[in-house]
Amino acid sequence: MQTERLRRVPYEASAWSAAAKELVDARRAAPMFPAVRVCPLLGFLDKDRKQVGCLGHPLATGGTDLRDCGVYRSSVCETFTCPSFGWLTDGQARLVQAACADWYLYGLVITDVEYVRGCLRLLEWELGGPARPEQMVEQPAVLAAVRKLFALKETAPRRDPKAGVFGRFTKDTEGEPVPRMLDYMKLGVRASPEDDVVLCLGYTPDNATDLLASRELVRAHVKAVARAMASPR
Ligand code: SF4
Repeated sequence: MQTERLRRVPYEASAWSAAAKELVDARRAAPMFPAVRVCPLLGFLDKDRKQVGCLGHPLATGGTDLRDCGVYRSSVCETFTCPSFGWLTDGQARLVQAACADWYLYGLVITDVEYVRGCLRLLEWELGGPARPEQMVEQPAVLAAVRKLFALKETAPRRDPKAGVFGRFTKDTEGEPVPRMLDYMKLGVRASPEDDVVLCLGYTPDNATDLLASRELVRAHVKAVARAMASPR
């Protein structure tokens, strides 16, 4: 919608501000976390709709900087780096880039540092040593198994879409995102290394059976990556 709408707008700040407001007003649902701004200038940069980026950036408009018409000032957009940029290593970020099949899954995974770190931590426990993401990207079978592991963000079954959670986060009384924890006393089970990943996938288990099933799902996918790493290339 954003790409289509802004494609027809002349590169003038007043016209872009009006279109941006129109797009925000037309949203079918309010963002889950009001503090997290969702910019109406985000869209597809290419005809094939494979690359998502800023439609108001001078490189996208042919020179005019229209980023002031988005949710931040242009100077903020120019200098901002997201937490993943600082918290993931180069190797981890490259593995996400190589393993995620498209921009949507890439967006889900690269923004969830705890998920990426949690998956690789489980893999290292399984391997009994370092995972070395830089080498993993060179091995197609390993990359295919990592893709399935990361794709759990989209494919993991039995999650409750109405649970009001986004990955690990839920809302506090002010609508701010707060990380969720599992209530092990209530569930009657001990903590397990898979639980960080289970929470990042958006599971909200309220009984031990569901929690054990979601742990098993994660474990099976991690083991598949370890098996691919152990197989001769
Ligand atoms: S760079 Fe700024 S203006 Fe462009 S999409 Fe991101 S937040 Fe919006």
